[in-house]
Parts: sequence; C-alpha cells; structure tokens
Amino acid sequence: MNFRLEVFEERCTACGTSFPALHQSSDDYGGPIVLVTQSLHVRGVSPEHDPVWNEADKLMARAAKRPLRDSEVASCFPLIFNDTVDSLHGERLYMWGMIACPCCGALERSSKVRKVPYEYVDISAEPVTHVEWNRLSESEKERRVELALSECMSKIQGWWVAGGHPAG
Ligand SMILES: [Zn+2]
Repeated sequence: MNFRLEVFEERCTACGTSFPALHQSSDDYGGPIVLVTQSLHVRGVSPEHDPVWNEADKLMARAAKRPLRDSEVASCFPLIFNDTVDSLHGERLYMWGMIACPCCGALERSSKVRKVPYEYVDISAEPVTHVEWNRLSESEKERRVELALSECMSKIQGWWVAGGHPAG
C-alpha cells in the first residue's frame, strides 16, 4: 500500500510536549488507511481485505448495547481496531497516525498544525498483522473490545461536558 503522508507538529493537551506526527491526506478517504507508531514507522490496512476489520466492527456493535452515533464510531473504532493489530518494533500502531503523546501517552491535542513549509513522506507500507489478536478466545476478544469502548465513551462524554468535540 502506498501512502503520501503529511508531516504535522502536534502539542499534547495533558503535558504540553510537542512532537511530529504523520497523517493521511483527507483525499485518501475510502482507500487504504495508514497506522503509525510513535517512532513514525508505518503499516497499512485495507478495510475490505483485512479479516479482522469486520470482526472488530461487529464486536464493537455488540459491546455498545445501543446504536452508536457516527461521531462515536469515528472516535472509538480506531482505538478498538488498534488493539487488534500486532505491535511494530515493540510499539503500538495508531490508526490515522493519531499516536499517543510520546511523553505521557495522552491522545488529546491542544494543537495540530501542518509543518511549514509543507512536508510530505511517500511511503510503501506492508499490511498490519493480527497474530496476537487471533490467539485470543472469543470471550477475551469481547472483553478487550468492551474495555476499549467504555474507556473511549467515557472520554467522549467528558469532552461533550467540557464543551469539546469528540473528533478534537
Ligand atoms: Zn503528553
């Protein structure tokens, strides 16, 4: 899978650390999706060819116990899918390049700006693998998804209460 990624400079809401991140152009919508580690190593997923994509989607729907809003799916599905993906060089992969802060692990950003002058990275990425996920029993998978979803939903509700936006 080939990606053209844009280099961003981001700042963590929790600890104020600035760090570089790589994101896909919004023009890529509907195609393969990039996953990135904190060290900016890259893998890709093609939703229609990945065997775990639909499984994760179904587990999320079952764990939710009510229909999820589009904004809830958009915020929480990436975190749930990240959890099914094998780590790369010992690091977790994050869908859309929404990496955790390298300093404190928080996912929220106080700023996210393209590097100026604009910088791009053209990259050929191998597909993600799910070896560890596939070793889990059905009930372990369910528990993992329930946990990730409830953590995500409580964060979203916090953001709404604080007047924020879940895509934040
Ligand atoms: Zn931080």
